[in-house]
Amino acid sequence: MTDNDAPIVGIDLGTTNSLVAYADEAGPHLIHGPAGAEDVILPSVIGFDLSGGDVTVGHTARLHAVEKPETTVHSIKRLMGRGFGDLRAESKRLPYRVLRRGCEIEERDVASVVIGEKFYTPPQLSAMILAELKRRATGYLGREVTKAVITVPAHFDDTQRQATRDAGLIAGLDVVRIVNEPTAAALAYGLDRAETATIAVYDLGGGTFDISILRIEDGMFEVLSTDGDTHLGGDDFDHCLIDLFIREVHKQFGVDITTPTIKQQLRTLAEEIKVRLSNADEAQVEIAIGPKDVYRRVIRRDEFEGMIEPLIERTIAACGRAAKAARVRVDEIDRVVMVGGSTRVPLIRQRVAEAFACAPYTAINPDHVVAMGAAVQASILSGAQRGMLLFDVTPLSLGIETMGGAMGKLIPANVRIPCKATENFTTFQDGQTAVKINVLQGEREMAKDCRSLGVFELRGIPPMPAGLPKIKVTFLIDQNGILDVTAVEERSGKNASVQIVPSYGLTRDEVKHLQEDAIAHAREDMSAHHLADVRTTVEFDLNKASGMIQKYGHLLPAGQRDELTRQLNELKELSKISDDPHAINKARMKFNHKTVPLAEIAVKESLKDS
Ligand code: ADP
Ligand code: MG
Repeated sequence: MTDNDAPIVGIDLGTTNSLVAYADEAGPHLIHGPAGAEDVILPSVIGFDLSGGDVTVGHTARLHAVEKPETTVHSIKRLMGRGFGDLRAESKRLPYRVLRRGCEIEERDVASVVIGEKFYTPPQLSAMILAELKRRATGYLGREVTKAVITVPAHFDDTQRQATRDAGLIAGLDVVRIVNEPTAAALAYGLDRAETATIAVYDLGGGTFDISILRIEDGMFEVLSTDGDTHLGGDDFDHCLIDLFIREVHKQFGVDITTPTIKQQLRTLAEEIKVRLSNADEAQVEIAIGPKDVYRRVIRRDEFEGMIEPLIERTIAACGRAAKAARVRVDEIDRVVMVGGSTRVPLIRQRVAEAFACAPYTAINPDHVVAMGAAVQASILSGAQRGMLLFDVTPLSLGIETMGGAMGKLIPANVRIPCKATENFTTFQDGQTAVKINVLQGEREMAKDCRSLGVFELRGIPPMPAGLPKIKVTFLIDQNGILDVTAVEERSGKNASVQIVPSYGLTRDEVKHLQEDAIAHAREDMSAHHLADVRTTVEFDLNKASGMIQKYGHLLPAGQRDELTRQLNELKELSKISDDPHAINKARMKFNHKTVPLAEIAVKESLKDS
């Protein structure tokens, strides 16, 4: 994987459809499948044949989806990086079985898909799709493709990105970069080369809707906000038509056409009609009911538009929310990029144009644009083009638990990645040889209100007086949003590290919830944090003082030692019962002042010792 000349392909790993593209001197182009130049879209569907053990990916698998619901896997992207607990509601919508299954990595609440007797994790299944794309690219380029840029929705969190990388790894692909889908779409249009601009990327796919507001400045992208609907897309348009057919056939012929095989045909037919209505004012439907009966019907575009209009309005409402969250007015948005096969529907283009008061970008085929952008990114990375940088931001703050249970932020939310932050810590007790490091994500001030991403221990610190070891903790977030945490004790060189693979993912709603929660609790959290810090300092000072009293107390004038011990206990008590950080801190300083004579003795004595 150190081959610098190895080609890098760009992959759009979609919920409904996946594509692979490659950029050469002539620019990005899609790589097609065995059926010829038009065959560039690989449906993200995997079909298992239990008898022969065969696995098929793509159109064939999709055709059998309804007949063999239990052995056909679609929408696997919805499961990526999500814990079983997160998926309870989702799995009810899926025809295949999803179960919890522990795996090698401790405590991971992993959801697996059950096919026959076998369990498959979501990355394993996504890897089957990636493997097919890899095969196509290898055939096309005439050399083995081992490197790829893969796109993910902007709202994907750490775990979901990590799962996507894992899928690449399983498929034998070194994922050199994970790129946000809206960023890729903007890149495909070369918008990174434009002047400073605020752009909206409207992405309506088969089953999901995403709206992202991006800011481009000096070739750098920043995601200002995301919104959308995880269950809204072209499939819902198909269902409007299917329901119409079922209703009318029943009324006209008294026949129920909801059996699985017919349903599959209806699905294919409905999608075909929908696609035709994107280009024509009407489309003819024919369904053979019996040996003689045929259901015949002309569907007009305006009739179809009437059915899907409420769905479109939902997307427009989400656009308004996203603009608000990004703190821009809709009319301040300079450009709107259309992404996703469903944006081919004319009414959608019209409504988006009206809502943003500008003509949306539609020149690049909306179902190809993300893959094209991924290829552009890939070519930038392979050095074909230089001078362009890509940045995204951290969705939530990251930090570690400090003494006393507070959240010590190292990297705040909305910082551009890649990024790095360091902070120095020390030990708390004399002779302490290990420290536990709890990595946190969240906006609240106290560790218990944040999400723990992982805990690790730095061991083997040589025994030293408290406060002397210098422990440097470094957070490094790479371009893919994956976090590496390292801790090193600088006097001894002892070090420890973790790469964060969080135990479950956060949904868009959860991120939003966490942010709102933080705002709601800001005031009390701040004082709780302050109180925890003060108590920690007190404890530190008390430990030091009691050590000195034990060792050198007998050298103090009679009575002073007992008096100091009494004051020490008083401060200890106050720190425990009072919740006024200012009062505690005042008492601490007063106490420290009293320990000065003892400290002087301690210094003199320790000089004698050495
Ligand atoms: P995803 O990103 O979810 O994988 P895509 O962007 O590939 O999905 O979009 C797939 C959806 O686009 C499907 O519902 C498909 O029917 C729809 N679609 C594709 N072409 C057209 C068209 N010409 N008119 C309307 N819908 C279309
Ligand atoms: Mg897509």
